[in-house]
Amino acid sequence: MAQIAMVMNLDKCIGCHTCSVTCKQTWTNRAGTEYVWFNNVETRPGQGYPRGYEDQDRWKGGWRLAHGRLVPRAGGRVRRLARLFANPELPLLDDYYQPWTYDYDNLTTAPLGDDVPTAPPRSLVDGRPMAVTWGPNWDDDLGGGPGHLAGDPVLRKIGDDVRLQYEQSFMFYLPRICEHCLNPSCVAACPSGALYKRVEDGIVLVDQDRCRGWRMCVTGCPYKKVYFNHQTGKAEKCTMCYPRVEAGEPTVCSETCVGRLRYLGVMLYDADRVGEAASVPREEDLYPAQLGCFLDPGDPAVASAAEASGIPHDWVEAARRSPVYSLISRYRVALPLHPEYRTMPMVWYVPPLSPIVDALAETGHDGEEVGNLFGAIESLRIPLGYLAGLFTAGDIAPVEAALRRLAAMRAHMRRLNLGEDADPAIAARVDMEPA
Ligand code: SF4
Ligand code: SF4
Repeated sequence: MAQIAMVMNLDKCIGCHTCSVTCKQTWTNRAGTEYVWFNNVETRPGQGYPRGYEDQDRWKGGWRLAHGRLVPRAGGRVRRLARLFANPELPLLDDYYQPWTYDYDNLTTAPLGDDVPTAPPRSLVDGRPMAVTWGPNWDDDLGGGPGHLAGDPVLRKIGDDVRLQYEQSFMFYLPRICEHCLNPSCVAACPSGALYKRVEDGIVLVDQDRCRGWRMCVTGCPYKKVYFNHQTGKAEKCTMCYPRVEAGEPTVCSETCVGRLRYLGVMLYDADRVGEAASVPREEDLYPAQLGCFLDPGDPAVASAAEASGIPHDWVEAARRSPVYSLISRYRVALPLHPEYRTMPMVWYVPPLSPIVDALAETGHDGEEVGNLFGAIESLRIPLGYLAGLFTAGDIAPVEAALRRLAAMRAHMRRLNLGEDADPAIAARVDMEPA
């Protein structure tokens, strides 16, 4: 099977929201979609969008794995009926969006206050300021203090692995779209059969004619990437810009991204392995299990088998040329977001390569010198445990391997760009041929 996939390089994201705005202008500028962001950019650490979506326990029972499929963790008939008719596990509007504005008249004249903003943001309702408790990227404004970090579900989960000190605070951005999962729980959850995954490219869409507004898809998506349009009474979600993709164009978010950090491509995968991979007992095994589903498009046997199964030659060629396959499978520098959700997500991330704190203090450099490629990297500004909580269900080894390879790639390219000879030892670290 063939699947459109995306890799985002988090080192390059500056949180400008150009992707969010251009996506919104293209797809969700109608009535009823004011709070809908097919693309959003989250502050990390932070509560995400909608607030607390990663706190899977919060969605009152959530989902469990049974025979390789995600099913509601319902207990008893009453609970199942309640789910069917009331669907209580939905985020509230407060969890999505409460727009507020700044008090521009007093931005520069207000007296000095506490170092950390503690007052909640306010919005104007009927001309009167009303306190709201949160908004997207409000985490930015709180500046990474311990109180704020305690609201991050990933940090809560890994607990003592991370010391929550101001002087050790860190921040980066995490852009998110629908994952167009190989094992999409939104599709499994829809009682109307309105959610479907396209055979030709794996894009997950909502058939607006079939949608009856049950919102089971909103409940069922662990990434909370289906939204309800309260004007039309239908569910809506990221379409991976399928009309553009069909015309050979990139998605709007990829094309307009200021950091040029979104790589689009085609992955070939073995559909027979997906169910097995999604149901491995140990969460830590999910990342390697999903990797094991992907096929090497450069292998002539894989390419001819793919074409024999009906995948067009152009798509097989696209998969062969795809940077996405290289980043995910060859170099293994891209990792899936929350593989423990078991939906087999297809938007992967190159984790941010933060400075090595000790090296920074000692040398003033960012710690990418050759020595550090082989030495200890426990003192990274962004703790390995935090990244592992996001990308590998807590398994630190693949995150560390990806960061070491990224550091080696930088060192390798720096040498070449400075006109120096490639160091075979560094090139070997990244599986590159010495130039
Ligand atoms: Fe469905 Fe959610 Fe996966 Fe998107 S991220 S395919 S909405 S389960
Ligand atoms: Fe990040 Fe690119 Fe979006 Fe800007 S446009 S927030 S750089 S992903």
